[in-house]
Amino acid sequence: MKPVIALVGRPNVGKSTLFNRLTGTRDAIVADFAGLTRDRHYGNGHLGKREYIVIDTGGFEPEASEGIYREMAKQTRQAVAESDVVLFVVDARAGLSAQDHDIAQYLRRLGKPTILVANKAEGMTQGVQLAEFFELGLGEVLPVSSAHGQGVRGMLEKALDAIQGFSEDDEEAAEPVEGVIRLAVAGRPNVGKSTLINVWLGEERLVAFDLPGTTRDAISVPFERDGKKFELIDTAGLRRKGKVFEAIEKFSVVKTLQAIESAHVVLLLLDATQGVTDQDAHIAGYILESGRAVVLAINKWDAVDSYQREQIERQIETRLAFLKFASLHLISARKRQGLGPVWKSIVQAQASAMRKMPTPMLTRLLQEAVAFQAPQKVGMYRPKMRYAHQGGMNPPVIVIHGNSLEHVPDAYKRFLEGRFRKAFDLVGTPLRIEFKTSD
Ligand code: GDP
Ligand code: GDP
Repeated sequence: MKPVIALVGRPNVGKSTLFNRLTGTRDAIVADFAGLTRDRHYGNGHLGKREYIVIDTGGFEPEASEGIYREMAKQTRQAVAESDVVLFVVDARAGLSAQDHDIAQYLRRLGKPTILVANKAEGMTQGVQLAEFFELGLGEVLPVSSAHGQGVRGMLEKALDAIQGFSEDDEEAAEPVEGVIRLAVAGRPNVGKSTLINVWLGEERLVAFDLPGTTRDAISVPFERDGKKFELIDTAGLRRKGKVFEAIEKFSVVKTLQAIESAHVVLLLLDATQGVTDQDAHIAGYILESGRAVVLAINKWDAVDSYQREQIERQIETRLAFLKFASLHLISARKRQGLGPVWKSIVQAQASAMRKMPTPMLTRLLQEAVAFQAPQKVGMYRPKMRYAHQGGMNPPVIVIHGNSLEHVPDAYKRFLEGRFRKAFDLVGTPLRIEFKTSD
């Protein structure tokens, strides 16, 4: 599981700026779970090979007693509770404030690894101005400039080092065993995740097996079905209790993100009686960002009439248009209807994500596509595509080489994607197309 870094501090100290820097892009707000989490943003980042999740917590007033501030304080507390290390950000220019003292007191009591970061420190004679922050009782103060990037890398190294038990070795130990499909069942509370999983795990055709390296990891369930090996991984809101899975009350975004990240295939479950909600769309958005293969299933199909069915099918087309590559199943976990084909799609999605695409075939397909319809001239540029090769798997990446490719319109990229998908039978996996221009 990726470690989680929480950014905490009063408003305006530069948390969002730091968040953007840690996640690598200006608008890396990977999943803005609006409605559920209000101002909290979640993003992915990496330092070399070490990957992490960052949560930006919005402004924090620990003592806030009303309205939106109280809600924000509650959410910040949850973010802090779910994180492995806290970056407590203060403003080096504004100096120490009463609010900083309150936050420090709160963090000291928690006893979580906390790193004190004085932002906006570019061009300052450090020793002098930063001395006052020692009053917070959190030890060393790290001067950084989120806006200019100074000190950010060193701070990140310290943060990741502070997380006990996390190292690159651990990451490697968590590598999936060859031939086993890691499956996460994701979805909002009450969509029927535990019902579905327990129906599945109760089936006779399903055989448990021992998976090396998972003994200490009691929350994963290895099993075999129709000659294929699977490992079901625990998701947010789901915990194993003895032989059955049970939904726990609280929905945790962080746990959902971690489960998605560590899966090969994510089965996203929706509730037909509720339609496609914002929260569904946000979870779907995160799955897409993660590059994981995905299968969609609308549960409780037994409980809706034909009017509602039509409604939800339309909602899926509009609100989840970005998951068009995924296969869609209409199921009833309770009545055990439509469940068999879901397995087929899971296996198909995994195979698609791992598909090998030989260079000669890719290049031939590219040439055929261009012969069928060449990209249009844009201004004085006519994009010229020369050859293609595979740049990665899970999700598959196709790299196209040529000239003036930065002028290829999105519509043309989609046209190419459609042709490659068809030729390689890619269903249930995102497909990334990258252009490499040599002029
Ligand atoms: P947040 O409310 O804590 O998320 O703070 P923001 O990231 O929105 O930043 C608040 C203001 O501080 C913005 O005007 C930023 O441009 C500015 N700011 C952020 N980081 C730096 C920095 O490293 N140096 C300076 N001088 N300004 C910064
Ligand atoms: P979870 O929170 O996602 O694990 O959801 P649960 O599995 O606990 O299900 C939530 C509620 O939906 C329970 O009352 C289930 O009995 C009900 N439910 C689950 N699957 C179905 C289904 O296929 N049809 C109907 N009508 N209800 C279902």
